[in-house]
Amino acid sequence: MPAKEKLITPKYSVVAPIYNEIGCVREFYEQVTKLMETLREPWEIIMVDDGSTDGSTDVIREIAQMDARVRPVIFARNFGHQIAVTAGLDYARGDAVIIIDADLQDPPAVMLDLIAKWKEGFEVVYAVRRKREGEGWFKLFTASLFYRLIYRITDVKIPLDTGDFRLIDRKVVDVIGQMREKHRFLRGMAAWVGYRQVGVDYDRKERFAGKTKYPFSKMAKLALNAITSFSYFPLQLATYLGFICAGISIIAIPIVAALRLSNQAALLGQATTLIAVLFLGGVQLITLGILGEYIGRIYDESKGRPLYIVSEAPDKK
Ligand code: UDP
Ligand code: MG
Repeated sequence: MPAKEKLITPKYSVVAPIYNEIGCVREFYEQVTKLMETLREPWEIIMVDDGSTDGSTDVIREIAQMDARVRPVIFARNFGHQIAVTAGLDYARGDAVIIIDADLQDPPAVMLDLIAKWKEGFEVVYAVRRKREGEGWFKLFTASLFYRLIYRITDVKIPLDTGDFRLIDRKVVDVIGQMREKHRFLRGMAAWVGYRQVGVDYDRKERFAGKTKYPFSKMAKLALNAITSFSYFPLQLATYLGFICAGISIIAIPIVAALRLSNQAALLGQATTLIAVLFLGGVQLITLGILGEYIGRIYDESKGRPLYIVSEAPDKK
């Protein structure tokens, strides 16, 4: 690493997770560079290659070779978007760190709005999606449902329609850096930290190239992480269901007894018993599953494994 680079610590760090974005990386670099240069303050881009297999890694290396402000962190395999962003935060040196997608769905120009709010004294400035372009109804519907469900169910108030596109002050980056939980939901973690936070509206654009790397299965996993990391509601569900079942049976017992005593032919045979057994069995299996989900997460944490393995990376600080 040239000595010159070490002397200047950047004021702004742009963190971009990249997974198979060969069609976007160069354009992303050019747009961000053009914009950051207008600020006339030192900056850097941390490009985290999350185990790309389409040649994006080589493009990142090439760009970094040409421009010392680009610092590549190259993962040994695909660890997932939230982990890639975490690594970016770990390597970022700036006073303000901006997380942005590399597919240009988050328009780089919005970074100026984020920076303006930061200069007013806010420690977390998140970008709120006012409109989303070029995404199918299924994605829009599930995303909207996801944000509203998370909002209702979790204990931390995570802002609606907000992704990871945001600016985070150094103080908050350091706090999040100390939170090494495996199943990460960064928006929740950033909200949990506190400090002064504010939203800035923007229109989410269409992808510059390529397809989404967030199929339904990954979105479902993220939703599960969000819920289990910030809420005990699923565990409490067992108690609620228990009360409901017990309540129903308490009401049912005198009714059945009365019917029998009045010699009615109703409710004879095995069917009623079978329904009760199946219903209770189902409730018990569901609650066991919920317990298993949380226990599995405790197990993952207890292993104490590192969050990611890098194969190439610059010095941390
Ligand atoms: N990404 C990543 N690792 C993954 C999936 C995605 O680093 O396992 C990156 C991806 O390259 C992009 C960003 O995370 O820069 C957001 O992903 P994507 O655009 O596919 O998600 P969407 O915008 O469709 O929700
Ligand atoms: Mg995208």
